[in-house]
Amino acid sequence: MRCPFCQNIDTKVIDTRESAHGNSIRRRRVCLQCGRRFTTIESTQLLVLKNNGEVEPFSRDKVINGVRRACKGRNISEADLNQLGRQVEEKLRQSGTAQVTSDEVGTAVLEPLRNVDEIAYLRFASVYRNFSTLDDFEDAIQWLRNNTNHNAPSEDR
Ligand SMILES: [Zn+2]
Repeated sequence: MRCPFCQNIDTKVIDTRESAHGNSIRRRRVCLQCGRRFTTIESTQLLVLKNNGEVEPFSRDKVINGVRRACKGRNISEADLNQLGRQVEEKLRQSGTAQVTSDEVGTAVLEPLRNVDEIAYLRFASVYRNFSTLDDFEDAIQWLRNNTNHNAPSEDR
């Protein structure tokens, strides 16, 4: 990181702050040569590789909109949806990679959605996992019946 004033490369970080959305890090630096201070912003943008090969920035809104469709008619608040969007994003970021696939996004939605509403979960899974027969639903419902621990802390598959 070069000092923008004297181009010296020896700088020291004196303060680090994460943005409210967690997608950028703001660092306050001081130049060790001229002593001037400046700010750098490092983006930690998450990218999504779609099935058609295109790459786009991860969008929490897009995830929430997809889930909202599955939640139609269910008693699920915007706050629940926002919370779910945040959980999904955190989970994907925890993987530590800068790029995930859209399948991974869908998988990351399933577990928190199951904890919010099982019907919405079934609807979302039926689209996302391409349920094609009644057996698919039956298996998913059976799985839900065997795993109805709403306080499960983490992935159990
Ligand atoms: Zn300098």
